[in-house]
Amino acid sequence: MTDSIRTGQILLGGFLALVIVLLSYKAKFLNRSGAFATFILAVLIFGFGGWKWSVPILVFFILSSLLSKTGKKRKEQFKNTFEKSGVRDYAQVIANGGLAGLFIFLYIFKPLPMYYHLYLVSLAAANADTWATEIGVLFKKTPRMITTFKKVEPGISGAVSIFGTGASLLGSFAIAFSGYLFSLSFKNLVLITLTGFFGSIIDSYFGASIQGQYQCTICNSYTEKHIHCKSATKHIKGFNWLNNDLVNILSAVFSILIFLLFS
Ligand SMILES: [Zn+2]
Repeated sequence: MTDSIRTGQILLGGFLALVIVLLSYKAKFLNRSGAFATFILAVLIFGFGGWKWSVPILVFFILSSLLSKTGKKRKEQFKNTFEKSGVRDYAQVIANGGLAGLFIFLYIFKPLPMYYHLYLVSLAAANADTWATEIGVLFKKTPRMITTFKKVEPGISGAVSIFGTGASLLGSFAIAFSGYLFSLSFKNLVLITLTGFFGSIIDSYFGASIQGQYQCTICNSYTEKHIHCKSATKHIKGFNWLNNDLVNILSAVFSILIFLLFS
């Protein structure tokens, strides 16, 4: 690529990033810190990666944002269970897009195809996890805890259902397929779909076992939050410092390791 074409692409990427971030901020998909983190990520990806890198992250960002707004009424019920609401802050953007950012960064310095594959795996895992939650809670079927298979309230970390698991596989496939449209091999399409899906299973498992969980001292419900019913919750299990964002990063790292093992 000549320098002037590259400069043009970076300027256009910056402009597109600004438009998307402003629209998302207005639609309340992102708060101010989330908008800033997304802008940096989008400039790197749109500016240096072109369509091949941009389409998969747009699929993740646009479809997941729209999904988080569907079934609003039903999701209202769970807003006291989840640590965070549908508005993403910088920590969520880093948890879901930080690894993607790392791989475009490495690719800018050394354009190895492997970085693109790992970029897709990290996005596939993030998308699988998001779709599992956003679609899973829409169905009335009672989920079960991944570790014990006992019936639990929907929305609790580690709760899995047939619909959520199906949505997770579909979410992983959507990212892998968007890469397949741009030169990915069929073998990698399958491998990325499976490792991304596996990442969301690990995510649920970590959510049920090592993620910090709390109980409200007023209403007794289980939650990821430190404050519930306006009072401090009691830490009941898992590591106190291990929140959902860190669990997301950890499970994406596992997906990447598995992909490396099989590729
Ligand atoms: Zn409470």
